[in-house]
Amino acid sequence: MSIEEGLVVHKSSSDLRVETRIGVVVRCSLRGKLRAAGDGRSPVLVGDRVEISLTSEGEGTLERVLPRRNVLGRSTAGGKPVVIAANVDALLIVMAARDPPPRWGLADRMLASADRDGFEAAICINKWDQIDMAPERGELLDTCELYRRIGYPVLTVSALRGDGIDEVASRLGNKVTVLSGHSGVGKSTLLNRLDPSLSLTTTEVNEVTGKGRHTTTAAALYRIPSGGHVIDTPGFREFMPSDIPRTELWLHFPEMAGLEGACRYKDCLHREEPGCRVRAALEEGKVPRMRYESYLRILESLPRS
Ligand code: GDP
Ligand code: ZN
Repeated sequence: MSIEEGLVVHKSSSDLRVETRIGVVVRCSLRGKLRAAGDGRSPVLVGDRVEISLTSEGEGTLERVLPRRNVLGRSTAGGKPVVIAANVDALLIVMAARDPPPRWGLADRMLASADRDGFEAAICINKWDQIDMAPERGELLDTCELYRRIGYPVLTVSALRGDGIDEVASRLGNKVTVLSGHSGVGKSTLLNRLDPSLSLTTTEVNEVTGKGRHTTTAAALYRIPSGGHVIDTPGFREFMPSDIPRTELWLHFPEMAGLEGACRYKDCLHREEPGCRVRAALEEGKVPRMRYESYLRILESLPRS
C-alpha cells in the first residue's frame, strides 16, 4: 500500500476525489475515524491537501488531512456558518453586465469578507457583449472605475466571444481562486474558455426570471492551464460576512479605513454620530455613496452582540 499526497478536487455527500501530484484524479473513501474526527461539519474540504492510500484497483482511501492555511466560509440564511473550501488565495467575484443585472451590494459583502479573511479579491464583469451598444454601458464603466479607484481590480470580459480571457488567466496565475457569483452569470462558460477540455455544462438563463438554474451542485476545484486552480462553489447567494463585529465592518471598506483623521467617538458606526470622519468624507465625495449605502445595509444585517 502506498501513501500519496494530493489535493481534494471534488466533494459532495457521496463523492470524494483527490488529484495526486502527477495529476491523476482518484476516487476516495473516507476512513471511519476521520469522518468522526471532524468538527461535526466537514472533516475534509475542497482545496484540502491530503494523504491517501491507493488500493490495487486504483481507488483511494483518505488517510489524513494536512494542516489548513485558511478556510473560506459563508453563512446560510439562518446565520449558521458553512465552510466551503480550504487553502484559498483569492476570490474572483463574477457578475454579468446585464442578465442577470450586477448586484454590487452582494459584491461589497464578498469584498469585505475577503478582506477580513485575508484573501485578495477582484471583480469580473462577464457578458460585456450584452451592453456593447446599450445605454447602460457608460454607467457600468463608471462603476467599474469607482471600484478600481478603491483598489479592486475589475476585469471586463465576454466569455462568449472570448474577450478579456487572457487578463482573467493572468490574474488567476498559479493561485487557488474561488469563483463566486449567482448562477447564470457565466462562471461555467468562463471556465470552459480558460480550459476547453473541462467541457462544463452551462445553463440557459431563464427568460422570465433572468436566473439560471443551479447546475453546480458540489464545490469543485479545477486545474487551469496557467497552473492555478479555480474553485466553483454553489450557493454563494446567501454569502454574508457574519462574523465581522459591527464596529469593525468599516475597516474592511478600504476607502473608509484609509481615511486620515479619526471620528470623535472611538466606537463610531459612521451613521448619525457627530464628528464622524467617514460622513465628512462622504460629503466631500471621497467615499462613494453607493459603497457607503452598502456599508449601512451590511451593518444592519450583522448580529448585534
Ligand atoms: P453559471 O451558472 O454562472 O455557470 O453560468 P453559465 O456559464 O451556465 O452561463 C449562463 C448563461 O449565460 C448561458 O446561456 C451562457 O451561454 C450565457 N453566457 C455565458 N457567458 C456569456 C457571455 O459572455 N455573453 C453572453 N451574451 N452570454 C453568456
Ligand atoms: Zn464615524
